[in-house]
Amino acid sequence: MFQKILIANRGEIALRVLRACKELGIQTVVVHSTADADAMHVRLADESVCIGPPPSRESYLNIHQIVAACEITGADAVHPGYGFLSENARFSDILKAHGITFIGPSGDHIRIMGDKIEAKRTAKRLGIPVVPGSDGAVSDEREAKRIAAEIGYPVIIKASAGGGGRGMKVARSEADLEVALQTARSEAGAAFGDDAVYIEKYLEKPRHIEIQVFGDGMGKGIHLGERDCSLQRRHQKVWEEANSPALNADQRARIGAVCANAIADLGYSGAGTIEFLYEDGEFYFIEMNTRLQVEHPVTEAITGIDLVHEQIRVASGAGLSVTQDEVRFSGHAIECRINAEDPRTFTPSPGTITHFHTPGGLGIRVDSGVYSGYKIPPYYDSLIGKLIVHGRNRVECMMRLRRALDEFVVDGIKTTLPLFRDLVGNPDIANGDYDIHWLEKHLASQES
Ligand code: ADP
Repeated sequence: MFQKILIANRGEIALRVLRACKELGIQTVVVHSTADADAMHVRLADESVCIGPPPSRESYLNIHQIVAACEITGADAVHPGYGFLSENARFSDILKAHGITFIGPSGDHIRIMGDKIEAKRTAKRLGIPVVPGSDGAVSDEREAKRIAAEIGYPVIIKASAGGGGRGMKVARSEADLEVALQTARSEAGAAFGDDAVYIEKYLEKPRHIEIQVFGDGMGKGIHLGERDCSLQRRHQKVWEEANSPALNADQRARIGAVCANAIADLGYSGAGTIEFLYEDGEFYFIEMNTRLQVEHPVTEAITGIDLVHEQIRVASGAGLSVTQDEVRFSGHAIECRINAEDPRTFTPSPGTITHFHTPGGLGIRVDSGVYSGYKIPPYYDSLIGKLIVHGRNRVECMMRLRRALDEFVVDGIKTTLPLFRDLVGNPDIANGDYDIHWLEKHLASQES
């Protein structure tokens, strides 16, 4: 087992990883920018190293500084959290070259899944159902037209190097295709320095359902069920739940087994998430994330398995603590992402939190690094906390969530709490009756 882990992240996830290390009796080092000197994870860590000024490029994304911090403190492993360097294959390779363990998959697996065309090809080869579309990049308009005619309109043009919902364009008919192709290509070139695009059938009303997987790197793979993350705004997840209101146990076991087998075949090591669109009973692979997800606590709530403990175990070579047969799903969990943002316009609202009071009681978990008097720096993501609620079933979970949201107080800044108070009272949400477009339509209807 590791002696000392360096946590290369900030905010709630740095604290989350720190707690897991403490439980496992592992020494902790955190790195931070000058803007985060007062952060909770810095206060609670055994050691901290300031690695640069506020901009992420110069601190949390600065590989040299992080490797130097490992050398100075004698850390033998790095947990990257999510975002920042968590899916950076070069970082994984560089750590390895320095004899430091990256708590995550190999650089090669990160690379394959980071290239969407390669990821889709690999998924297909491993028996994962994919969205019908081009086999690889499309080279010209003629080819795009031929493929679109084959799979049928509407189609979506997507950037191979894409991420964050950028470089995607929908074409509803052949007349739209030329413009969609050109715009997607130029957006992709500008955003990612790679203008390769591919084409897929556009699904009209899918849900976003993702499967949590784990590989031990030695040929074993398991799944921990799904999360439904269909409530999104601008392709950003807002509310996540496990299980999905749309799946039954049979469907879960079937798609879960497909994913677990794929992970085993790949020889994958650590936590991963296989993301699907789900429509009319069918799953369509869209991408795989090779890291811990923001929404991992809903899976922890229904399985009782600590995903960060598991990541650390696997990275240390100790293997998984459970077999597939030992995984049990119990009850229902929902996570609300609380952002320091105006709940109507979603513009960031940094500043000082004058009062912070979190709800408590049975089935309530709050993952947050903020506190009363904490000043939110304007440089980073606006996520300030996550409220995760667990109940024996979805109805109980929703009742508890409503109560917890009423108790939650964050003064001094604007937050997205009012949005969740609205959602928890909505009949469609109560019925689990929503797709990936529901939230944007709902928000638009409130504006008019
Ligand atoms: P990114 O990595 O940029 O987030 P994804 O491939 O994960 O890109 O897709 C992001 C979102 O775009 C999906 O959650 C979904 O809302 C939409 N999307 C992607 N592919 C399709 C498709 N074939 N049909 C309909 N919507 C899609």
